[in-house]
Amino acid sequence: MKDNQIQKAKQLIHHASNIIITCHKGPDGDAIGSTMALYFYLKKLDKNAQVIVPNDFPDFLKWIPESDSILIYDKNIEEANRQIEKADLLFSLDYNALHRTGMMQEALEKASGDFIMIDHHQQPDDYAIVTYSDTSICSTCQMVYHFIDALGDLTLIDQNIAQCIYTGIMTDTGSFRFRSTTSTTHRVIANLIDTGIDNAKIHQNVYDSNSYNRLQLLGKSLNNLKVIPELNTAYITLSAKEQRQFNAQKGDTEGVVNYALSLKGIKLAVIFKEDANENLIKMSFRSKGNFSVNEFARTHFNGGGHTNAAGAVSDLPFEDTIAKFISILPTYQKELS
Ligand code: 5GP
Ligand code: MN
Repeated sequence: MKDNQIQKAKQLIHHASNIIITCHKGPDGDAIGSTMALYFYLKKLDKNAQVIVPNDFPDFLKWIPESDSILIYDKNIEEANRQIEKADLLFSLDYNALHRTGMMQEALEKASGDFIMIDHHQQPDDYAIVTYSDTSICSTCQMVYHFIDALGDLTLIDQNIAQCIYTGIMTDTGSFRFRSTTSTTHRVIANLIDTGIDNAKIHQNVYDSNSYNRLQLLGKSLNNLKVIPELNTAYITLSAKEQRQFNAQKGDTEGVVNYALSLKGIKLAVIFKEDANENLIKMSFRSKGNFSVNEFARTHFNGGGHTNAAGAVSDLPFEDTIAKFISILPTYQKELS
């Protein structure tokens, strides 16, 4: 962070009486980890802070201390709108464009408070007074650590804050294996463990909480895996019917796309999930090396994310979405082969 940004952020926090902390729709480990870490930090500064998320988050994150205090927008629209309206400071964490908050977008656009953005996605929109954006950092959680550091408050990082930050770094780096995992990441992690948190327990809480149905759904996903060898591409499809068959819950398909990417030689992996409730198709893109799924998702499906992990939604029918994807691929022959 630049000096003037640090001073401005300090000032905004100092003068704020009501602070709202938000994240993107479909909150993941980094979104919940970063919002809750910042919440605990602001509470330590004796600030009145409330986390509001667009929709519910997976059960494997519900062990996070005080996560039951999180206000879920689509379940409490009136209360959430009231709080957003009276906020004098709002944080955008783990997203950089208001449309990423889904139903919450309108309320945030109308908000009179100032925004501070802390985010690691590409091409941030320009709506915040302080924009702390760095696409080289693995997770928003690590950025929250640097933010607290920049504000001179590293000593305030207690076990609550440490557990939250650890969670988001762990989930966004695929347990410390993606290229974004740097020596700085490991130094931050070491400092977090030194607060006395039980790091093995965090892995267990997040990854060893599968239901029988979730594993069966994974089995179905792997059965549906298709490979286009000449384009080093693999994709998985999950229809709404298949998801119903295994009583799919929020978060049950998280990480499934990585199995497609784990095939030897594969450079591009995708999962297509039909969402019958919202009448759309959710796509997750993953890549290895220089192939930018951010560019791909942005260009063809109005999505975005990072170079090696991005997402998008399609309002075409399920089969048509897959057909569109397959028809586009040959234009990337050179990059993919
Ligand atoms: P996931 O595939 O795990 O949902 O998301 C991968 C990355 O892409 C995340 O960093 C996420 O924030 C971003 N992302 C997911 N869906 C969308 C989308 O519809 N639009 C944009 N702009 N980014 C997305
Ligand atoms: Mn993230």
